[in-house]
Amino acid sequence: NTTQTCSHCGHVMTGKNKLTLADRKWMCPSCGAFHVRDHNAAQNILAKGLATL
Ligand SMILES: [Zn+2]
Repeated sequence: NTTQTCSHCGHVMTGKNKLTLADRKWMCPSCGAFHVRDHNAAQNILAKGLATL
């Protein structure tokens, strides 16, 4: 679910806010952070990796 999670505040996009493959860029409704999907996903994956170590 890394593409649906804001790397800034942890907000998860669900329901009608859920991102599709067409949404390459999006703004978090919780903290207002602007994200590029792939970059945001990479940051979340990195954070998960670091948490596992
Ligand atoms: Zn956010």
